[in-house]
Amino acid sequence: MDEKIEQLKKIVEDSDNIVFFGGAGVSTESGIPDFRSVDGLYNQQWQYPPETILSHSFFERDPAEYYRFHRAKLVVEGVRPNRAHLRLAELEAQGKLRAVITQNIDGLHQAAGSKNVLELHGSILRAYCSRCRTPYPAEKINYGTDVPRCKCGGIIRPDIVLYEEQLDEDILYRSIEYIRKADVLIVGGTSLNVYPAAGLINYYRGNKLVLVNLGQTPYDSYADLVIHKKIGEVFANI
Ligand code: ZN
Repeated sequence: MDEKIEQLKKIVEDSDNIVFFGGAGVSTESGIPDFRSVDGLYNQQWQYPPETILSHSFFERDPAEYYRFHRAKLVVEGVRPNRAHLRLAELEAQGKLRAVITQNIDGLHQAAGSKNVLELHGSILRAYCSRCRTPYPAEKINYGTDVPRCKCGGIIRPDIVLYEEQLDEDILYRSIEYIRKADVLIVGGTSLNVYPAAGLINYYRGNKLVLVNLGQTPYDSYADLVIHKKIGEVFANI
């Protein structure tokens, strides 16, 4: 087996205080396309870039167009947890992993069985009224063609953090605490170029920072172990 994966396996064996921080790459291996990826049809179908449509002000201005994008691009049918999700859930059940901190909104960690999942950007599997905050099941917003409305008349929105919106402070604070106290921090499936990923790992104080990402990241030279492989392949072998 790959020597670096062997090293990670040993690090994992020796620790009972592992924290995992994951980005989009964890989900792309389950077949969830990155909504930023520009396919040939994109420009024909959408007048604005995804960062605009997925913003707070756009949602307020044109919820019908927001929901057209949401249902076409964010809702992906039939996706299942991959080997990384499943192994992380196992490590938690074994008492070795303390928390999964994720930037993904697909709920796949919970589907794999993980319990302590900190969703920095919320979840597409929850919704609530933007006026009275009554919670609604995701089915209420993820299907159909209408703008979903609450009994109070307010527009029901997904429980995700849109561009221009703040991260949930409680989740952010708890994420920082887990990272600060972690013995091992494994960062996977993120190029660490965007907020808050890069900022968060600066809170880590240990000497077992592990990066697992297909491409290089700005933190490669700073990490104790760097593995440039697919995250599912790595987790299947540790
Ligand atoms: Zn309402």
